[in-house]
This record gives sequence, C-alpha cells and structure tokens, in this order.
Amino acid sequence: MQCEEQRGRSAPPGVGPAFSPADAASEADLDGRNSPSNIIDDNDMPPSKPGLWLLKTKAEARASTATVQAWTIELPSRAANTVLGLIKDNVPELDAIDLQHIRRFAKARFLPTHLIPETVAVSRSRSASERDGSSRGSSRSRSSRNKRRGSVPATLHLIVSPVSCVDEDTLTELLLKNPPFVDDGFPLILREVTLPLLPPTSAEQAELWSQQYWPTIYRKTNPFGPHPSIIGRAEEEVLADNNVPRLMEMAKKVAGETKGKCCGAGVGCVIIERPTGKPIEVIAVAGDGRHQGFDEVAGQQNPMAHAVMRAIGMVARKRVRSATRDPLKLNQDMAALDINRPSHTPAPGAPKYVDKTLLDYPLTPMERKAFNKDNLIPDGYLCVDLEIYLTHEPCVMCTMAILHSRFARCVFGIRMPKTGALTADGGGLGYGLFWRPELNWKFLCWEWKEKDPYDGDNYLHLFLDKKTQV
Ligand SMILES: [Zn+2]
Repeated sequence: MQCEEQRGRSAPPGVGPAFSPADAASEADLDGRNSPSNIIDDNDMPPSKPGLWLLKTKAEARASTATVQAWTIELPSRAANTVLGLIKDNVPELDAIDLQHIRRFAKARFLPTHLIPETVAVSRSRSASERDGSSRGSSRSRSSRNKRRGSVPATLHLIVSPVSCVDEDTLTELLLKNPPFVDDGFPLILREVTLPLLPPTSAEQAELWSQQYWPTIYRKTNPFGPHPSIIGRAEEEVLADNNVPRLMEMAKKVAGETKGKCCGAGVGCVIIERPTGKPIEVIAVAGDGRHQGFDEVAGQQNPMAHAVMRAIGMVARKRVRSATRDPLKLNQDMAALDINRPSHTPAPGAPKYVDKTLLDYPLTPMERKAFNKDNLIPDGYLCVDLEIYLTHEPCVMCTMAILHSRFARCVFGIRMPKTGALTADGGGLGYGLFWRPELNWKFLCWEWKEKDPYDGDNYLHLFLDKKTQV
C-alpha cells in the first residue's frame, strides 16, 4: 500500500489485449482498443507531484515529441485489403519509416475527436439525442449521411503512407484509377495527419497518443529504456520499508554537517547495499567538501570534493580495508589526518596514499560512523549492485563517476537544470547520462519529489545557487 502511494509514476503495467500486426486489417485493428482512461499529462515538463518518478531516458524524451506526417483516406471496409495491396505495390519507399506502432486501419469512432469526419460526429450526436428522448436534427443528419454515402457502407480510415514517401498528386492519381474510387465511385478525400514517429514506451502513453494523434499500439516493451518488468521489481525494492525518505533525510543531514563545518555547499549523498533477504546497509555517507582547505571567499573550490566523489572514494577505501591483512593499521593512518588544517596538503606524518584533494575520508560524525563499519558484502567489485541517494541531481563529472563505478540505481531529490546530467527532459541540459546506448554502463534513476524539499533544511537553498554544480 505504501509503495503505491509513494510511486509517482508506476511502472508501465502492460495491460490490455495482445495486439496483432498493424499492417493488415485484422480483427484487432478493426475493433480492438483499450478502454478510455484519463489523459496522462505527458509533455516535456518534469513531474510535479510528490513521489518516486522514474527518469525518462534521452531516447524516451525524444520519442515523446518526435512526429511524422502521413496521408490518410476513408474507404469502404470491403475494399481495405485491396487498397492496402495497391499502396504496397506502388509506393516503393513505404517501409522507409517504421510505423508498426500505428494501427494501419481504424474505425471512425476510435479516431481522435479532431479527425472524426463530420458525418460521423453528427451521427453520434443524433444517437445521443435519441437516447435522451429527443429527435431534433435527426432527419437532417440522416439526409446528410445518405446524400454522401447512398447505402452507407461500413468504412475504415487507412494510414496510406508517410507524406515523405509519396506526394499528394501522385497518390491522388493512383487512387482515382482504382476501386473503390474509380469512375465516381466512393469519394476520395486525402487528408494529412500527424503521427508519433517512435513507439510508445507505456500503455499510458499509447492511450494518450491514441487520443492526440491516431490509434497507437503499445507492445509491452520499451526500446528506449529499461524494460518495464525491471522497473517494476526495482521500484518495489526501492520503496520497501520507507527507505527512500529515510535515506534522503540522511543525505540532507550530512549535507548540513559539512555545511556547518564550512566545508561544502549543502549537498549530501548516501550509498547503500541491499543484501538478499536482509535490511539495507549504509555503506558510505558524504557531504559536499568543495571548500575544505580552499579559500571560499577568494572563489576557490575543489571540484574533486563533491559529495558523490567523496562517497565513492570512501567505498573504495572500505573495499581496500576489507581486503587488507591489517585493517587496524589502515584506520590508524586515517585517524592521523588533520582535517582542520587550512591547506589541502596532507598533515605531517599522514600516509602517502592519502590525497587531501580527494577528501575520500570522513569529515563528520555521520560520515565516520558509516566509514568505520565493515559491512560491505565481501569480494564486491567497484560499486556494482550499490545504490546512491542524493539531495541534488549530480553534475556531469559526478554522474560519470557514478556510471564508471557501475552503480545499479540512483535516486536524487532536487533537479539542477543548469548543471545536472541525469535528466533528459524538463528544459535542463538534457543529457540523460544514466541510460545512453553509446556508454558502457547503464543504471536506473529516479527523481524523489517532495512536497517541499527545502522544508526544515534551509541550508539546501541558502547556500546553493542555481549555477552551483553538485
Ligand atoms: Zn559533481
């Protein structure tokens, strides 16, 4: 129950009947369609309601806006396959654009309102009037239909071809030479319509496009992002035990700790592991440390000490510690560090392997508590199977560090339109680096939307302007 409440957009449920191929006038094409549901707001705006929101990938963001123009005609149902064969034989470039997600044939009543022919709309109105006990206007509408159709044959609407494949004159000439349009037969009305160019990535999106553009098919898969079944399982795990708000509060708290020590910019990060059948383990906690050892007033800061970089560095140190034969010695070396030194150079006597530029060791009590606990599952590799929770959307550098460290999942709180590298929609940089086919790793990523993310945490917005990279 809690999961459902917290899930901003649930994984695509894949409901509805199995669909048949769209290039033939099959039974499903003629009659099948999911029952209407509420229209989903699917524009390019970021989510506004509280909850866990799966990020759109770069390709999904593109798919939600790319369209193509196509020709459509109305024709008698009995002539459907004949005309389709005629088109396939005479429009050689027909397959140049893959529109298998579009229903090739559709009955008028399944078309979006703006595409429904006037006669059908009048007929619908008449039916409604008759149900209401009124017959006003019925003779006019019947006359109008009969004047055009004669015996009023059952008709379908056909997506003939993308406009780029055949020009209007050529197509008109071809159709007028053949049944049912030849010799003043069925009236030919060629119309241009807009179609979604790429397949929908959810049943909700298919339903929306069916109302906006043309009846559209969702094939229960997502060619532009993680498979719906993976998302469903992952969201169940992430939302279990109220962990997300707990971890986000922890990230905020450590952000406040380092900010309170004048080390950083009020950004926090928590890394966890999820042992099978056991509660989650907090592996590393880190606040931003960009000002530690640098003169903030003079405008100096240390990008290597962003919260993400520090937390990943501490995971690496814990891996080394778990593999070394003398972990006590390693901890003593760390304790020798003097973090209050004004310079970023190591303190005298500090071990040579410690680089204070990286700040990959604890600065605060919260960080130290997580760092000192040897709770990593043995024999792990980099950050494989780990999850990272962030107060803010990370910058390009930190996002690539997350990616190269091979994290499994990421949840962040506040979008950073000027610098964030995870989101692909909403008017930011649009990189969507978490799921790019040209990169050698992908991970799932969500935005954790709170009613007021700054509530009770003034440091988050008092010290972090919109240009700050996190
Ligand atoms: Zn960063």
